[in-house]
Order: sequence, then C-alpha cells, then structure tokens
Amino acid sequence: TISMAVIDKKGHIAVGTSTNGASFKIPGRVGDGPIAGSSSYADDEVGACGATGDGDIMMRFLPCYQVVESMRQGMEPRLAAKDAMSRIARKYPDFMGAVIAINREGVHAGACHGWTFQYSVRSTDMDDVEIFTVVP
Ligand code: ASP
Repeated sequence: TISMAVIDKKGHIAVGTSTNGASFKIPGRVGDGPIAGSSSYADDEVGACGATGDGDIMMRFLPCYQVVESMRQGMEPRLAAKDAMSRIARKYPDFMGAVIAINREGVHAGACHGWTFQYSVRSTDMDDVEIFTVVP
C-alpha cells in the first residue's frame, strides 16, 4: 500500500492511497483503500492522514478521519496518529497497521502497531527524501 499526502504552494492538501489489497484476499473483496476516512482523509483546514495495514479491521475505526479530526481539535500529528492506533489496539491487540499524519503547517508524524514502519518526506527546501522509521 502506498499513501501520499501533499500540500501545494497555495496550501491545498490532498491525500491518496493505492493498494493491491490484503494477501490471499477473496475475489471481490473491498478493503479499506476506497473507504474515505479509513485509508486516507484530508482537509485543507487541518491536514491529512494515510493508512496501511489490516484493512478489514482498520476500516471499522476510520483511523484517518479520526487523525484529522483529532488534529482539528488541536492534537499534534504525533499524538493524533498514536491515538488512532491505540483506539484500534484496545479492541484488536494483534492488528498490524500504521498511519502517517501531516498538519497544514507541514508537521508530520507516523504511528504503527504490530510492526516497524517507515515513511518518507520531501519538501521544496530539501534536496532528497528523508526516511523516518516509526517503532510501535
Ligand atoms: N490496507 C490494505 C488492505 O487491507 C493492505 C495494506 O495496507 O497493505 O487492503
């Protein structure tokens, strides 16, 4: 799964998620990828979130909607991302997943559960991408 969140020069924020789905999925399965708020969500006024992981579990919690709404309430991206993972882990302690969060100021963070996760960031003032490793 690949999620990408972008902020353009005018401050518009967009996010998209592409996935080949869960391993050994049944034909016709609709995962979390196309569910708005589950694998991605963005709002120009707040920021964006992208997700990967056990979609069949994660889609029940709309984690990306949760992250953006938490940031709207004033949470820093790091805390909002961690909180979204905790909400799922409380009900499904064995799930594997991760979210990335970025606010409209460009402050970003990731959080994960059940695995170590990496994401990369590039902005106009950088020569190359920077890779961040997130541990549960
Ligand atoms: N979330 C995807 C799905 O369940 C899988 C993934 O992120 O790797 O379809």
